[in-house]
Order: sequence, then C-alpha cells, then structure tokens
Amino acid sequence: MKAILLVALAATAPAAGIRVGVLALFQPKRLLVSAFEWQIGVERLAPQQPVELIAAGDEVLCRFGGRESRTRRILAGPRITISVPGKIERQYLGELEVTATAGTLTPVIRMDLETAVASVAAAEMPSGPAEAHKAQAIAARSYYAATSRRHGGFDFCDTTHCQLLKDPGPEDAATRGLVLAYQGRVFGAMYFRSCGGETRAAANASAYPYFRVRCEECLRSPHAWTFELPAGEEPPDSEAARLDLARRFGWNRVASNQFTIERRGGAVILHGKGHGHGIGMCQRGAIAMAEAGLDFRSILEHYYPRTSLIR
Ligand SMILES: [Zn+2]
Ligand SMILES: [Zn+2]
Repeated sequence: MKAILLVALAATAPAAGIRVGVLALFQPKRLLVSAFEWQIGVERLAPQQPVELIAAGDEVLCRFGGRESRTRRILAGPRITISVPGKIERQYLGELEVTATAGTLTPVIRMDLETAVASVAAAEMPSGPAEAHKAQAIAARSYYAATSRRHGGFDFCDTTHCQLLKDPGPEDAATRGLVLAYQGRVFGAMYFRSCGGETRAAANASAYPYFRVRCEECLRSPHAWTFELPAGEEPPDSEAARLDLARRFGWNRVASNQFTIERRGGAVILHGKGHGHGIGMCQRGAIAMAEAGLDFRSILEHYYPRTSLIR
C-alpha cells in the first residue's frame, strides 16, 4: 500500500518526460528535501525550510516547521535538493514523488527527457571533449527513447542497471532530440567504459546487431586488470557469470569479459583488458577520437556502424 504521494509543482517541467527512481542504492529510510515551492495538504510552505521525510512502514511521515504530518499529498518543485543525511546530496529538476514500502522511501523524479539526457551525459562522462560528450548524450537519449520501462514504480533507475544519473548537466542545443536509428528505427544504444582493442558483437540484440569494431585507443593502451579468483570460483563463461562474480567480489576486479586464464598451483588468475560489457560505444575510445579532432557524427558512425541519426 502506498500511503503518501509527493508531486512537485510542474512550474517549468512539462507533464511528459520520464520517471527516474533515484538514490535507490541507499535504500533511504529518511530524506531531507528542499524545493522552491511546497504544498503539504492544503498548506503552502515557505521554500527555505527543508522537509524531513521518514518512512513509517508503508507511510511517509513529514516533518516541517516543528510539526508532523502524514498528509496524503505534497507538492514541491521544480528545483529539488534531496539528501540522505550524512551520505549524499543531489539536485534535480522536475516533479518529485515519494512513496514508502516496508520502511524504505522510494523517491521518483519525473523530468524532461532533455534534462535527463544532460544529467546522464554528465554522470556517465564527467570529463572529456565536447564532441565525445555529444556522442554520449545521443547514446543516452537513444537508450531512454527506445527502452521500455525497466522497473515497477518508475521507468528507469539511476544506477548502471539503467543509466547513471546525477545532478543536471548543461544541455547541448546542437544534439537536442537526435537519436541513433538502425534501418529507420531508434534503438537503445549501449555503451561502456573501455574495450580491450575491439568491441563485441551482439547479434541477438533485438533492434541493432552491434558489430565488432576496432578501437585504436584501447589497442594502443588498454585498461589492464588482474584478478585471482577466490578458492572454489570458476572463470566466468558468460556476461551474466561475470556480473555475478563482480557483484560478489567488486565491480572493478572482474572488469570485463576479455581475459586469459592462468593456472598456477591451485590458483586461478585472470589477466584481462577493458572495462564493462564491451557492446556499443567505448567511452575511452570516443574521448580519444574527439581529442584527435573528430566530431560526434564520426564517433557514432565508428562505434555504431550502419546507423543513422534521426530526430
Ligand atoms: Zn534500472
Ligand atoms: Zn576502446
């Protein structure tokens, strides 16, 4: 049962957009939320005071101005700051909705697609030349545009499961609305940190086959990693098996599916190259191409062969 609904005033954000579940990794029980404008029940509040939200079973308890309320409907927005006290603070632009389930709060932000794309591009590629950033923004937009909702109470999360999303980054007018298409249809463009010199094909991916692509930057100087498997563990024979190992022993330790196996005595040691699933655009290679003077169209043509850009 979801007792309390929080919705931000859509003063500037349009009603459309995507719904992103945020801060889920923290499984928050308590949040401090500041917004430009609040309405709790029938009351309007001054914007200065943060409102404290506490999960009470399946209800949200709101504390503001020395009072406590379990009002069913709260309005706040459009500029929102949410903090998990002592852990993290983030800013968002959009409408906020918070529900509680079994003592955990679920904050969801409905935001404009372009705001979300800029926030993903800033989070997924925090540094790098402008043209690489544009390529990243187009991949992120294509992913949102072509992927159907992946969660129960919202469309996408803010972790690598969907796409990383942090504070809003600058929107890029030049690529606004551009998405990647294959045979005329937009597809959920995948990307990853770095390859080992070549990206992987994914013929079974539904909307785009992801051809194998050479990556000069990673050929020249690949990200190399070594991991000694704990006793009783076997080298991963699939991406799912790799993710299972990574989940248990650390995301950077079994960084990719490209490795050789060394057996020494009883030990099994993986020597690998690259970081991530290896399908689609290599972010490291994209940055190197942009540094070499190539534009976002050339970068996307390289990592997503036989595609076109449509609006
Ligand atoms: Zn997700
Ligand atoms: Zn690469």
